Amino acid sequence: AFSEDPDVTLITPTAPMATPTHGGRAKCLQRLVRLDLPVPRTVALSFAEVHRIAAGQMPDMAALLAHFDPEALLCVRPSSEDPDWGGPGAVLNIGMNDARYVALTESIGHEASASLYMRFVQGYAVHIARLDPDLFDEIEDVGQAGLSAALAAYEEEAEEAFPQDPAVQLREVLRSMARAWEGTSARLLRQAKGAPVDAGLGLVVQEMAPGLGKGECGSGVLQLVDSDTGLPQVTGRYLSQSQGREALKHRNTSLFLEKDPRGPSLEELAPEAFAQLKAHTELMRRKLRAEMQIEFTIQNGQLHILDGVRVVRSSRAAVRIAVRLVEDGIISPQEAVMRIEPGAISELLHRQVAPGADRRVIGRGIAASPGAATGRIVFSSAEALASTSRGESCILVRRETSPEDIRGMHAAVAVLTERGGMTSHAAVIGRGMGLPCVVGAARMKIDLQRKTILAENGSTFREGDVVTLDGTAGEVLEGSPEMVEAALDDAFQKLMGWADDARDIGVRANADTPADAATARRFMAQGIGLCRTEHMFFEADRITPMREMIFADAPEDRQAALAMLLPMQRADFTELFRIMEGLPVCIRLFDPPLHEFLPTDRAGLRDLAEALDLPVSDVTRRVESMGEYNPMLGLRGVRLGITVPEIYDMQARAIFEATLDASREGAPVVPEIMLPLVSANREVELLRSRIDAVAAAVRAERGRNFTYRLGVMVETPRACLRADEIAPHCQFLSFGTNDLTQMTYGLSRDDAGRFMGDYVQQGVFNEDPFHVLDLDGVGELVAIGVERGRSSNPGVTLSICGEHGGNPESIAFCRAVGMTYVSCSPFRVPVARLAAAQFAL
Ligand code: PEP
Ligand code: MG
Repeated sequence: AFSEDPDVTLITPTAPMATPTHGGRAKCLQRLVRLDLPVPRTVALSFAEVHRIAAGQMPDMAALLAHFDPEALLCVRPSSEDPDWGGPGAVLNIGMNDARYVALTESIGHEASASLYMRFVQGYAVHIARLDPDLFDEIEDVGQAGLSAALAAYEEEAEEAFPQDPAVQLREVLRSMARAWEGTSARLLRQAKGAPVDAGLGLVVQEMAPGLGKGECGSGVLQLVDSDTGLPQVTGRYLSQSQGREALKHRNTSLFLEKDPRGPSLEELAPEAFAQLKAHTELMRRKLRAEMQIEFTIQNGQLHILDGVRVVRSSRAAVRIAVRLVEDGIISPQEAVMRIEPGAISELLHRQVAPGADRRVIGRGIAASPGAATGRIVFSSAEALASTSRGESCILVRRETSPEDIRGMHAAVAVLTERGGMTSHAAVIGRGMGLPCVVGAARMKIDLQRKTILAENGSTFREGDVVTLDGTAGEVLEGSPEMVEAALDDAFQKLMGWADDARDIGVRANADTPADAATARRFMAQGIGLCRTEHMFFEADRITPMREMIFADAPEDRQAALAMLLPMQRADFTELFRIMEGLPVCIRLFDPPLHEFLPTDRAGLRDLAEALDLPVSDVTRRVESMGEYNPMLGLRGVRLGITVPEIYDMQARAIFEATLDASREGAPVVPEIMLPLVSANREVELLRSRIDAVAAAVRAERGRNFTYRLGVMVETPRACLRADEIAPHCQFLSFGTNDLTQMTYGLSRDDAGRFMGDYVQQGVFNEDPFHVLDLDGVGELVAIGVERGRSSNPGVTLSICGEHGGNPESIAFCRAVGMTYVSCSPFRVPVARLAAAQFAL
């Protein structure tokens, strides 16, 4: 009989396609049936039907059972929209009762029949009647005596006999599975995995090939690729006289599938069934256009395919699988690009803790920069340098990092800070360097005096102890778990190439050093969108002239110090231009408050006093007098350029001289110079004429011509609002959404980490706005800035260079408002390339 009811549908090759409201499993089974694969009879129940069942309204059981052979056992499996959302486990062997047991004894033998009944009684007791699983612990005999004992135990505990009517059994199974889905814990669990509040559950009722009995009987699971690597490899197990996924649980007794030197295989045991199985899976791959894992049963030598699901895969396997599907002509390159989650790509760029490794978590914080590294704990940058010079990998642990820690960070293999958020110093620098970093680990007590960390679990770690920092998960682990290496293989490169073909927004990198620039090129960034020049002044040979410059009272003294810095800066820029080979390089002039360059501890103050030949007390007083109440809103950025113009003059000169030096050797360089923290058009006008004057001087001295582009960083709310006045004075506007977010919210980017977790948890903010651009507030300011900037200067180039530039959701926004490019940390460039391609497709 064919059901007319669309909510209870028998799957046949000709029946109309199951609607999406029957769930993924029903849909997949229908496709397998249409491919004429040996799938047992199956009826699919829709989300609506299952919802009614949960509410106590049962379908017509007689009509449902009429779809099946009255002799057959049945199973029920969940069919949600997305298999990752979980759901109740499958229930097998429905229909076993005293009479069926006797009948089956003749066809499949005593032992198999008793075993089937026993399995059903146990499964039903625990999952449907919800009896205590210990109930059957004492029963050892798997034969008839054990069965009698199990039935008696059931009866005693449930206070009623085990149900004999298959219609009652099936009804109770359906009811129980439907209710389990609607229970609170199941709902919370799937919502945590991204399921909507009203996610539905479908159920499939299927005739069984039991996998137990005479002749070769058994069950197994097969896929054609390795889940970790994605490489072709018949993977799975088969176990004679078993059901469901038991073969995977009994690794010692189950068989390999393909011939294998490590042990016996299904291929040797049942070559024909194995060959069919492989052919069926290959057909599924081709027709379902995905790598599938199939669950199969062999019943007296006959193969049955019960189920197919997408192969579980690591990120690297996902890339290889997608690329191989393209190479085999099964999917298009565009589809491959769409199938990879951009966030997953970043896992491939770094070493990671191996998926199955032993994770003893001793602390948690914000996952600020991905990748994992193992090393000995050190508590200062000096110790980090010492440790590295001894050839020992180390993990730098700080309360928070400051620019002085850059060298320590370079020496360390990972960084852990107690404070900070997604855009605090350690996080930004860590991402830029590709250094794994966890910040805001506030529940780990770091004692810098005693050089200890009190872990969340109460144990103490000392300087020199080995820990592993997992910046992808935001966790600190004890010891050295197994790792997997970065995977920038052919498959990765191919996929990224296809992404670039589809993409319609540029991707540049934020890069401060030659190493960053080299990484940017390796990841095929289309230029440098932000070079933060202040990071160039922390090398040991530069910090002293820098400090002398800051301390200089008279312009001549300042000039002398700057004259020492000029050749160093020129060499920095020449090197960047050389590495970038004609690609655009956008250099931001000096931004931070000057006092960040001054020493904070006694030893540093004494060093400086020596260098300047002044008493320590003078130096101390001077340093104190330079302190500001709120340095991030104080004398920094373009304000320094206006009040201490010699610094920008020196930087502009270094850029222009480097331009000429580098252009002589290779592709012509057109440098881009960017002014930070602008809030008024007059700032741009003033500095533009100064920089033009420097350009004219260099042209005259060198007798050679060059051009440059001037841009403004839009990172104050006022700059967004007055972008129409600012844009005519420059060629490009680049939105610095880190500062813009900080100033829009009135929320310090360096302190936000302290309470951001609570804020997100309580739903005050949906996301950390330093991580995902706040479209409603900050986004509106950006949109205003874009529109007003363009209104007065239609040709102005628009871009983003805040950390949001590497975040997929934010990239969608940047594309929508019509930006030319996004710029992000080098290690996020591939993520941005892929995400941008997906938005364009
Ligand atoms: C910004 O503010 O968004 C920016 C890119 O500059 P920085 O992070 O250096 O302040
Ligand atoms: Mg900024």
